[in-house]
Amino acid sequence: MRNIDDYNFRNRKALLRVDFNVPLNNELIVTDETRIIAAIPTIKKIINEGGSVILMSHLGRPEKGPEDKFSLRHIIPNLQERLGIEVKFAGDCIGSLASELSKALGTGEIILLENVRFYQEETQGDQDFAIKLAKLGYIYVNDAFGTAHRAHASTTIVAQFFEDKCAGYIMGNELAYANKVLEDPNRPFTAIVGGAKISDKIMIIEKLLDKVDNLIIGGGMSYTFIKAQGGAIGKSLCEDNRKAYTLELIEKAKVKNVNLCLPLDNVIADDFSNNAKRQIVKSGEIPYDWEGLDIGPQSIYAFENIIKKSKTILWNGPMGVFEFHNFAVGTEAIAEAVVSATQNGSFSLIGGGDSAAAINNLGFGNKVSYVSTGGGALLEYMEGKTLPGLAILEN
Ligand code: AMP
Repeated sequence: MRNIDDYNFRNRKALLRVDFNVPLNNELIVTDETRIIAAIPTIKKIINEGGSVILMSHLGRPEKGPEDKFSLRHIIPNLQERLGIEVKFAGDCIGSLASELSKALGTGEIILLENVRFYQEETQGDQDFAIKLAKLGYIYVNDAFGTAHRAHASTTIVAQFFEDKCAGYIMGNELAYANKVLEDPNRPFTAIVGGAKISDKIMIIEKLLDKVDNLIIGGGMSYTFIKAQGGAIGKSLCEDNRKAYTLELIEKAKVKNVNLCLPLDNVIADDFSNNAKRQIVKSGEIPYDWEGLDIGPQSIYAFENIIKKSKTILWNGPMGVFEFHNFAVGTEAIAEAVVSATQNGSFSLIGGGDSAAAINNLGFGNKVSYVSTGGGALLEYMEGKTLPGLAILEN
């Protein structure tokens, strides 16, 4: 696969697929610029070499065509400020507006196309739509790691129509860090897996059992393990059809000499809300009408001890319902332990999605080794799946 440094962009128009799928608040102001900041080095490399850039991205999940709340125009102030250059807005991603602006584009100039998902052809991977996009530039650069696992028109299909195509810096970094963790981890290597469902993470857990020394399981998925072992979990999240599988995993971990750690205690709630009544109980002792929404202090202590002794840490998924302030303590404590291990020389990779949000909300983004910009894509890559957005760059 060609890398962006294999090309010189002098006098070349790059069609650059970025991931500007950033959160906006009710006033349509960007609340987390991580993905915009991450894209700057790739954009600057092209501009500084005397090229020009046509930026394309999706934002949110518009289902009924164009909708202002999903317009990429809302991110222009942030993008201009981060780049220090004017960014023109095309108002559409295909059609005469986009093509006129791209034709008139001079050296060092940047245009931003409108949300590609305003057309359902984008997610359908439509060829004709991809051809229209391809006409806008002469070289295709894909730096949207977060959507590399989707064979969409702008992430994959479009690349077929370019002789010159390559991966941007984000893509390169994500792969390098994922490979480092999988192929060459300093030991002990600890993976922390949390979040809602075990069924979403089966493949990655299987893969990690061959790689890690410690596997910490927290969050909603831990209750299926506890119930399978005969514990009482009340109304906590549980996938009954996965109980047998969790017992298999526990056995596999023993055979592979992996220290599989489950929560020792939980913060439980009498209702699924931030203001619910709370109490701390031992794991497997949750009353029938209560539910576990966070890990408790003994679990935090045990997990912190493991994390602090680890030389490589991979974290995907929160330890509880961290969106509720009163049940975010476990997730925050784990984030702090990962930061402290990093400060002592460990390598820490935060696997996108909700764990990245938790790290960024706490202002720890720069205190860990790397925060992935793509949760689903990173997991699929680590599971060993082919990412269509990458594979097409190899042809
Ligand atoms: P995932 O996308 O699988 O990483 O899951 C993240 C989601 O899991 C977050 O929205 C959390 O609120 C949710 N979650 C974590 N722990 C629990 C729990 N104990 N009960 C219900 N939901 C949870």
